[in-house]
Amino acid sequence: MSVAENYRRTAEDVERIALKYGRKPDEISILAVSKTHPADKMLEAASCGVRLFGESRVQEALPKIEIVKAAYPDAIFHFIGKIQTNKAKKLVEYFSLIHSVDSLRAAEALNGAAEACGKIQDILIQLNLAREPQKGGVYYEGLEELICFIKKTHNLKLRGFMLIPPFENEPEYNRAYFKSAGEIYKKFKKDGNFNIDILSMGMSGDYETAISEGSTMVRIGTMIFGSR
Ligand SMILES: *Cc1c(COP(=O)(O)O)cnc(C)c1O
Repeated sequence: MSVAENYRRTAEDVERIALKYGRKPDEISILAVSKTHPADKMLEAASCGVRLFGESRVQEALPKIEIVKAAYPDAIFHFIGKIQTNKAKKLVEYFSLIHSVDSLRAAEALNGAAEACGKIQDILIQLNLAREPQKGGVYYEGLEELICFIKKTHNLKLRGFMLIPPFENEPEYNRAYFKSAGEIYKKFKKDGNFNIDILSMGMSGDYETAISEGSTMVRIGTMIFGSR
């Protein structure tokens, strides 16, 4: 099946699920995760209307971003991978939203890079609610401190949270994590100190559960571009 056809089906399914759970379809955006796929496939997606792309490796992403931006200047790129502080400058230069801030060190590096190029950088905090030591994301007890730090920076703007739950074939097993991320999102959205409006959760295998628990952005790779 073509990327265009895959994307159309994905968008229809997200809309169907949104309505099923009483959500407004236009509250939920689809981040097309193009990591490991060549720029050609991104151009194919862009030709049928996709403008929002997710990448997880700086080195791989930059040349692809150059190609896609040359053809589609309104394309937008989000970073969803592990943050290496020595790449902070490139991250700030190329990505409009960074989903994976999970430490004071990463926040500090991004803030410094953003300050140096006069940008206010939109970020999400990545949550590790299942406390998986091999994975990125802040544990629940570290969240408050990270938020306080970000609040004090001048060049970072916290827009919300991102969740990667444990790998499961049955997404229902992860419902508690999606629910808990939804609660964290709602709690900080109410706090007038921020403009929280993004809850990034849900991938090809579990976006229905994520949407039912309040996701506003699903990150879809395999279902749009095929297997990696
Ligand atoms: C690769 C990746 C995705 C996309 O996963 P699929 O299962 O292919 O849809 C989503 N989020 C993150 C953080 C990823 O690294």
